[in-house]
Amino acid sequence: MIPIVSVILTSYNKPKTIGNAIESVLNQTFGNWELFIMDDHSQKETVEIIKRYINDPRIHYFNSYIQDSERYKTTRYATLINEAIPKTKGKYITYLTDDNIFLPERLETMARVLNQNPDIEIVYSQQLVKTIDENGKVEREKIRKTYGVLKNPIGLVDHCSIMHTRSIADKIYKEYGSYWEDDPAYWFNGDAAFWTRLTNFKPFYPIPKTLDIALKDAQSFQRLYHHLPKNIPNGTLVRSPSSDTYIIDNQERRKIDPEVFGKLKYDVDKIVTIPDPFLFKYKEGVSVDNQVFFDYSLFPDQRLIISPNNPAVFYFQNGKKHHVKNEKAFSDFKFQWDKIVIVSDNLLNQIPSGNFIEELSMNITFLPDGVLFNCDNNFYISLNNHLHPIEKRVATKLNLPVANPVRINRNIVAKFKQGEPFKWQIPFIN
Ligand code: UDP
Ligand code: MG
Repeated sequence: MIPIVSVILTSYNKPKTIGNAIESVLNQTFGNWELFIMDDHSQKETVEIIKRYINDPRIHYFNSYIQDSERYKTTRYATLINEAIPKTKGKYITYLTDDNIFLPERLETMARVLNQNPDIEIVYSQQLVKTIDENGKVEREKIRKTYGVLKNPIGLVDHCSIMHTRSIADKIYKEYGSYWEDDPAYWFNGDAAFWTRLTNFKPFYPIPKTLDIALKDAQSFQRLYHHLPKNIPNGTLVRSPSSDTYIIDNQERRKIDPEVFGKLKYDVDKIVTIPDPFLFKYKEGVSVDNQVFFDYSLFPDQRLIISPNNPAVFYFQNGKKHHVKNEKAFSDFKFQWDKIVIVSDNLLNQIPSGNFIEELSMNITFLPDGVLFNCDNNFYISLNNHLHPIEKRVATKLNLPVANPVRINRNIVAKFKQGEPFKWQIPFIN
């Protein structure tokens, strides 16, 4: 029997919810469906759950085996959907994500409206959105409503709340050469790019009933991506839901051995969780482990250092030690005494000397890297002796000390070249 509805489920590392998503298809009141589980090379835990279901002849499972280093190159769920559509047979196509569940009448209700109204090619319904905390407790609930017939559904409709005909997908393919737009620029609202394609042909027709439930947890891509700049400044501690902790050093990610995390005076509260694809976009550099205490060329930047037989405190950056000239200079840049890393005299002696770090005054010509400055309500971060404007919300996302920045005046700002700003930009298309 040829299935009427093809469900495309995209999956990536959501072991807590993927089972419920699959069961929600099995529990449909409408029986004539096929399910394509498109897994984006999840870790074992998730794949093992999926495998419990694949003996059902209606369920088809594909693994992308994508390498982590390739993950950022396209909007992955759009790519997976593009791979799935040619394999499907249904007259209607509908989408599910691994953190969503269909209510039992989702397929029946939508297929009926499409069947009875040959002129309608896209239907959408209400969605219940549950925001949950780390323990799975519901923090907030809201309904995404229907708004009548929509010619511009961008930002209003989630892709788990629609069904469209195969024939409209074919028209899109003919016009654009692909079904979904998978340019990574649109990852944040990847369905918006597809909505533009769909509405070129037909509007979205409402079904004013709640037919699916979306779960937004702390690890959802949207939440982790929110307020991240295009490039993450050097000196940022990062991790992703499926990874260890890294330091962004020279625009590479260097894994930090837990054994030296404390020794290097890193602070757990400073770690920024970012989505996997954004972390894996950074080339993996040499790990930060005990070796850094024996070879200064491996030592991570932006650390205060001191050695037992030398009273001076230095700031290490770009392979050089920069003498912090006096206590006034130390406190001017809001350095903290409990963040000084102890290294051997031998290591310290090997490191070439760089510029002094002087007190903050009109005569200053050199700034330590990674310091958050504030001038007239504008924030800047210093890198490579440039001041990079940084939006407050971006600085907050990066766990920089927005409540306690180094205050400087305009004359000092004017002395330094401005670097590329760190901004949050929601990619948007129309
Ligand atoms: N996804 C994927 N590969 C990835 C990251 C995400 O296929 O590397 C899929 C994921 O399984 C989900 C969809 O993209 O079906 C949206 O991801 P998520 O739920 O994390 O984001 P949000 O709900 O915040 O948009
Ligand atoms: Mg999601």
